[in-house]
Amino acid sequence: MKRAFQSLLYVGVILIMTGSSSETSVMTRLDNVIKAEVDDLSELYFDLHRHPELSLFEKETSKKMAGELREIGFEVTENFGGYGVVGVYKNGDGPVILYRTDMDALPMQEKTGLPYASKSIAKDADGIEVNTMHSCGHDMHMTVWNGTARALVKMKDQWKGTLVFIGQPAEEIGRGAKLMLDAGLYEKFPLPDYGIGLHCSPTIEAGKVGYGSGFTMANTESVDIIVYGQGSHGATPHQSIDPIVLASLIVMDLQTIVSRTIPPTESAVLTVGSIKGGTKHNIIPDEVRLQLTLRSYKEEVRQMLHKGIERITKGAAIAAGLPENKYPKVVFPEIWTPANYNDPQLTNDLTASARKALGETNVLDAAPLMVGEDFSRYGLTEEDVPTVLFWLGTVPRQRIEQAAKNEEKLPGLHSPFYYPDVELTITTGVKVMSTSILDLMEKGRQ
Ligand SMILES: [Zn+2]
Ligand SMILES: [Zn+2]
Repeated sequence: MKRAFQSLLYVGVILIMTGSSSETSVMTRLDNVIKAEVDDLSELYFDLHRHPELSLFEKETSKKMAGELREIGFEVTENFGGYGVVGVYKNGDGPVILYRTDMDALPMQEKTGLPYASKSIAKDADGIEVNTMHSCGHDMHMTVWNGTARALVKMKDQWKGTLVFIGQPAEEIGRGAKLMLDAGLYEKFPLPDYGIGLHCSPTIEAGKVGYGSGFTMANTESVDIIVYGQGSHGATPHQSIDPIVLASLIVMDLQTIVSRTIPPTESAVLTVGSIKGGTKHNIIPDEVRLQLTLRSYKEEVRQMLHKGIERITKGAAIAAGLPENKYPKVVFPEIWTPANYNDPQLTNDLTASARKALGETNVLDAAPLMVGEDFSRYGLTEEDVPTVLFWLGTVPRQRIEQAAKNEEKLPGLHSPFYYPDVELTITTGVKVMSTSILDLMEKGRQ
C-alpha cells in the first residue's frame, strides 16, 4: 500500500514537472539548446566582428552566412539582390515566417579597445581606403539569426511551417531591402504570413527587449538645395546678389516649417547638416549648397515638409530679386527609407512571447525614434505582410551603472565605442526569436 502510494506520488511529481506544463518543457529544451550553442555562436560573433564589410561589399560575410545556413539544413540561394542570402526550411504545413538580418558594417575606426576589436581596412565605393566596424550591431543580428536557425531546426518536432531566413545587404545606405524585393523575394520564395526582425539597442540593458507598436521609425530623406546668386568682389556687395546671405535666410526660415506648419501633435524633423559655399574672405560666390535630412512618420507630413521647402526657397529668391532661372534648385531623393510600421496585432503576439521567454520585467515598451531602417519595406508591398522590428537590449549592466555614476551618456549605435554584452545578448536574442517563431507557428495552425 505504502509502495503504491509512493509510486502514485512519483507519477504526480513527474506530471507536475512535465506533463502538466508542456510549455515549460519546451522552454527548458530551448534553454538547453541555446546553452549548448552559445560558445560556438560567440565565436561566430567575434569572427563577424573582426571582419566587417561595407554596404554592397558583403561578399565574404554573405558567403559565410549562406554556408552556415546550408549546414543547418536550409535550402539556400546566394547573391539574391546584391549579396542577399535567402534560406528556406520547409517543415510541413503551417505558416510562412520571414526573419531578416542585415549584414553590412560602417566606414569608421573602432575605439573600444576590446581584444576582438576590428582592425579591418577596406576600399569604399570611391576606391578610398577606410577603417570598417560593425558599430550598428549587424554582426550580432547575424549571430542571433544563425542561432535561431540552429535552435528551430533542432526543435523541429515542436512546429510545422516554413522558415524564410534572409540575410540582407546594404541596410546602412537604405538600399538592401529594395534590392531583395525588386529581385522577386515575394515571388520566387514562399510569401510570408509574418515578417520579423530585431535591431540591437544601445540603451536597453542586455537580457531585455523593447517593443513599439505602430510607427517606430521614420521616413528618412536626404535633400540637396543649391542656392544661386550673383557673385562679385567682397568690397562691392551692391553689385552682387549674395547667396551666402540668401542661404542663411533660407536656413533660418526652414526652421519654421516644423515649428509653424506641421500640426504639433505630429512628428517631423528638418535638419540642415551641411552648408558649403565660397572660397575666400573677399569674394561673394555665386552658389551655396545645403544638405538636409528630413524625418516624418506619415505621408501627408512628408509632403508638408516638401511643400514648405519649395515655398521658402522660392520665396527667398523672389525677395532677393533673382530671375526665375536662378531660383534655388531643390533635389528630393528618388529613393528614401520609408517609416517603419509595427503591425499592432503582431506586436501584441510577439510581446506576449517575449514575456513568456524572459519574464514580464525584461520586456519594455520602446518609444518611437526618428531614425530610419529599411526593414520597413517588407511590410509595404502590395502583399501587405504584417511586420515587426523590435529592439534587442545589448548594453552590459556594469556599463549602464558606470555611465549613471559618471553622468555620462552611453555610446549610441554608429559610435566607435559601442559594444554589446556578447553572451547575454546572444542568449536573449535567440530565446526571444525562437519562442516568437514557435508561438507564431502554433497560432497559424489554430
Ligand atoms: Zn546603422
Ligand atoms: Zn543597423
